[in-house]
Amino acid sequence: MARVVILGAGISGHTAALHLRRMLGKVHEVVVVTPNSQWNWIPSNIWVGVGKMTKEQVTFPLAPIYHRKGIVLHQALATAIHPEGNSLHERPFVEIQYTDSTRVGEKDKIEYDFLINATGPKLNFAATPGLGPDGHTVSVCTPTHAIEAAAHLKEVINKLREGLRQTLVIGVGHGTCTCEGAAFEYAFNVEHELRLAGVRDLADVVYLTNEFELGDFGVGGMTFTQNGFETTSKLWTESLFRERGVHAILQSHVEKIEKNVIHYEQLDGVKRTLAFDFAMLLPPFRGVDMQAFNVMGEDISAEMFAPSGFMKVDANYTQKVFSEWRAEDWPSTYQTPLFSNIFGVGIAFAPPHQISEPRKSSVGILIAPSPPRTGMPSGVMGKTVALTITDRIRTGESAPAHKASMANMGAACIASAGSGMRTGTAAAMTMYPVVPDYQKYPGSGRSTVDTFGEIGLAAHWIKYLLHVMFIYKAKAKPFWFLIPE
Ligand SMILES: Cc1cc2nc3c(=O)[nH]c(=O)nc-3n(C[C@H](O)[C@H](O)[C@H](O)COP(=O)(O)OP(=O)(O)OC[C@H]3O[C@@H](n4cnc5c(N)ncnc54)[C@H](O)[C@@H]3O)c2cc1C
Repeated sequence: MARVVILGAGISGHTAALHLRRMLGKVHEVVVVTPNSQWNWIPSNIWVGVGKMTKEQVTFPLAPIYHRKGIVLHQALATAIHPEGNSLHERPFVEIQYTDSTRVGEKDKIEYDFLINATGPKLNFAATPGLGPDGHTVSVCTPTHAIEAAAHLKEVINKLREGLRQTLVIGVGHGTCTCEGAAFEYAFNVEHELRLAGVRDLADVVYLTNEFELGDFGVGGMTFTQNGFETTSKLWTESLFRERGVHAILQSHVEKIEKNVIHYEQLDGVKRTLAFDFAMLLPPFRGVDMQAFNVMGEDISAEMFAPSGFMKVDANYTQKVFSEWRAEDWPSTYQTPLFSNIFGVGIAFAPPHQISEPRKSSVGILIAPSPPRTGMPSGVMGKTVALTITDRIRTGESAPAHKASMANMGAACIASAGSGMRTGTAAAMTMYPVVPDYQKYPGSGRSTVDTFGEIGLAAHWIKYLLHVMFIYKAKAKPFWFLIPE
């Protein structure tokens, strides 16, 4: 009997758990450790954040699904990994701390044969003083945050109705943030809601970002083929900003936020301020708080995790200049270099380098979008590692690892620009590969045939369809596994 322990039940961890359960015989145990009782389809939090969806529409309880599937669930935080065991445990184990109301704070240890770290990001609001729901801005990263954001937005709309001019700032709250696509989506959904409410004329909508230019999205921008012509995500995005009257402030690192004032610095080294009435700024991400210890009980966290807190896997982490970065630096098996039975997937793995060119301001502040690891690649990584572990359990440890590098993987991203079955719009973008390969595709680093975009109502329907399909899949309803990651 083998036990596979999965830390985290988000997109990558839940995908891995369901596939492992489907592929492994019941004699083997699949165990999930995750702090929340609910699964969340995070992309639709954007719609919760404008009051178009409820928390119940984007979440569901995990326990009944895991019970039905025979997956053991511990509602807990993983706090430490002991990959070599210790004097009391011959086998490797993880330390956990329960979060469910019946056992809150209680600690336990779970032994494993294989471990998948799918803990996603720590929302690092603390990196910027005043950032986040405990400070002066709102967020849409969790359903609870998004509900608060929607309530604040409603207040702002009421003020606009009273004839008071309001400034709404949406973007990222630090020079090294990722997920610019989500900030972009929220900006245009808010702008759409303001128009629907008939108050757009009194509202100033500002998009504040660390991107060098619009359309970068942390992937260095895209070159598409559209209607037989080549265009770029920069042109495309700039035209949407112009059409909707959204003002963009680029190349920014938010330094601190005070009540109604954002202090930011740009690549030119100049510090500026921006007054606001409503601000949704995403936090930077780092790895969750987890340590690792060897058999002697010595802390080996620095060997297992990058300084960012993300787990080191089979990537090339050698420090190089931008022009020397290569697509093959990116990991493909997600196996950790030190332990062949530990894998890091989704946002939890440490990327070897940025995708967008990192830049420093004239006074040395790093303003560089971190590489996004979006839903589709995260799901693919979860499944890939599940396949590797299944093979190794069935045929032995020498079974080769399955591979899925972001440098050989495409991703589809649909950024909503306003919801509504008749009035909605979305920008649908497909890129191949996610990590540009300038050797294989000189110029843009991506295939211009397989990288394309469309904007319009049809893309909104696709975005809504994806919401329905992925929740169906995550609920493990009949034939769920036929829906691709
Ligand atoms: C607002 C927003 C909108 C987005 N929109 C899109 C979109 O439209 N399309 C797209 O492709 N991507 C989108 N993304 C990105 C997408 O959500 C992520 O790529 C995806 O969730 C990453 O999956 P993951 O499994 O790595 O992490 P997550 O889905 O975040 O899952 C991490 C899991 O680990 C758990 N966890 C945390 N700490 C611990 C611990 N110590 N021990 C155990 N478990 C732990 C968490 O509770 C969670 O269950 C969006 C992100 C945001 C924030």
